[in-house]
Amino acid sequence: MPNMKEDPMNSLRSVFDSVAQRTAGALEGTRGYVERAKLRSQLNDYYRRLGKAEYEAAMNGTSSMEEINMLMQRITDLRQQMYAMEQNAGAQRGGTVTCPTCGKLNSAEDAFCPGCGAQLR
Ligand SMILES: [Zn+2]
Repeated sequence: MPNMKEDPMNSLRSVFDSVAQRTAGALEGTRGYVERAKLRSQLNDYYRRLGKAEYEAAMNGTSSMEEINMLMQRITDLRQQMYAMEQNAGAQRGGTVTCPTCGKLNSAEDAFCPGCGAQLR
């Protein structure tokens, strides 16, 4: 049982905290990039699962609409999260945003998606 009062980890942690605070600004861009990459890979995973579910439904004639609907809902959520994140990052550095409706990658300056016409901001 570690002695909490003299726990060396506590002082280490406060050192890390202050370092983290100082570098937080510099890391903001990197963290946003990592977060978006994470969302993108989650999204690709859901696309794969949706494709598999659709395939099995078509092949076996047993459509699991519940699973397909769940996957589609998750994909819509992830797209919207990514869109919000990319719009923030894009507004700062003139980057790109993913259309929440059709998934097309657009310039962050576009007011409407050239792919499907959805309003982007
Ligand atoms: Zn679109």
